Amino acid sequence: MDTLMHVKIWGSADAADAVEQELFRLDKLLSVTGESSDVFLLNRGRRAQLSDEAAELLRSAIALSRRTDGAFDPTVYPLVQLWGFTEGTQRVPAQDELQAALDNIGIENIEQDGNAVTLKNGAQLDFGGIAKGYAAEKCAALLQTAGVEAALLSLGGNVQTVGTKPDGSQWAVGIADPAQPAQAIATLRFTGSLALVTSGGYQRYFEEDGVRYHHILDPETGMPAQSGLASVTVLAESGTLADALSTALFVMGLDAAAQFWRSSDDFEAIFITDDGQIFATQGAAVLLGDCEFQEISR
Ligand code: ADP
Ligand code: MG
Repeated sequence: MDTLMHVKIWGSADAADAVEQELFRLDKLLSVTGESSDVFLLNRGRRAQLSDEAAELLRSAIALSRRTDGAFDPTVYPLVQLWGFTEGTQRVPAQDELQAALDNIGIENIEQDGNAVTLKNGAQLDFGGIAKGYAAEKCAALLQTAGVEAALLSLGGNVQTVGTKPDGSQWAVGIADPAQPAQAIATLRFTGSLALVTSGGYQRYFEEDGVRYHHILDPETGMPAQSGLASVTVLAESGTLADALSTALFVMGLDAAAQFWRSSDDFEAIFITDDGQIFATQGAAVLLGDCEFQEISR
């Protein structure tokens, strides 16, 4: 998944091996560039019989795309490629190239009948906005089944806690300061299992002529989303949901995202604006320690 992962487990070294294997297995299944992955084969052949697991994740991705009105879009790959984010060939595309790629994307171009999937109209699948959260969720389930006491997974910006540490102390999860990502701008404290996923424009980007272009694309314009947000952290029971929503809410911007939260009951969120202000939904606000923030209420 092209990132650094840390896993800390209280209880069993065997469980650590199992998590490592699970992460490599999922990377192989879901990677957009891995030449034997379900996603790669589908993108190349336009038609494929997916594994049960990839088919199930695709159903979730399509549902989340509908729910977010397309802000999360698992078919953005033609755009991601155009911007050169997967191959490391970053450049600013010309307007006609962008338009051509925009014409290709959208979940209406996916035909799914059970495990049989066809991509129409040049669309291509990319689970980049959801795969790490899904992997965290799967590993958490595996660790719970293995009966470990507690675990902390950090999969490239996707944090997943499992259980409570043996000494009963709280988890402390920092949210990176978008202006200085090595430092925390806020810390969340809680006990128990939770997924916390951050999407930020500071994570992966390139610069051209003094302008910064990051990797979270607005499926409406084809451009890096410029919504006034520097990062969004989503807290949820499901890592898959948290990952898709962190990407989607980043694209939506603060006002639309707050409205989206008010009509939902399965996540909380923390927003950091381009000018460094922190906003937290009610359920996230109670986990924030000493820092200045504004609360978003129902
Ligand atoms: P990260 O992968 O850095 O944790 P995200 O979860 O926000 O951040 O995912 C960004 C990745 O998802 C991009 O690298 C790209 O592959 C893909 N992507 C970009 N824009 C979108 C979008 N609007 N909807 C779905 N996936 C996207
Ligand atoms: Mg995401």
